Amino acid sequence: MAQPKYLISACLCGICSRYDGGSFDYPALRQLAEAGLAIPFCPEQAGGLSTPRKPCEIAGDRVMAADGTDCTAQYRLGAEEALAVCRKYGLAAAILKEGSPSCGSHRIRDGSHTGRKIPGMGITAALLAKEGVVLYTEEALPPEVAENNR
Ligand code: SF4
Repeated sequence: MAQPKYLISACLCGICSRYDGGSFDYPALRQLAEAGLAIPFCPEQAGGLSTPRKPCEIAGDRVMAADGTDCTAQYRLGAEEALAVCRKYGLAAAILKEGSPSCGSHRIRDGSHTGRKIPGMGITAALLAKEGVVLYTEEALPPEVAENNR
């Protein structure tokens, strides 16, 4: 079995973990997971949220659904669990879905539930970056993965 190098957002590997029950199909990323080089992980599921679930946005120091449900605790738990997996398997890098309130590395929604995007990091991405995990996204893949994606 290959030594895993990356934590990867589960939804990027075709695993139906998104809030709407869907996933994304990036064959190169799915193959990375199937080869054992990346460990698929969904922080929102790991934090105890169901799939499908209410979409949430970061608003100040909280993570809220449009109906006022406060999901901050689940998002924080999911981030801690992601960090624990990185530590357990010695993963120094992660490939995370851009734009997500958990996994986004460069942009998130602005908390107004209107679709507006702003620069910012999701809860899991911010914690992993703070703890020294190198972050990549599906838009900016690790060079060795991008090479195989051509
Ligand atoms: Fe994908 Fe991350 Fe959202 Fe889970 S929390 S569905 S892994 S973007």
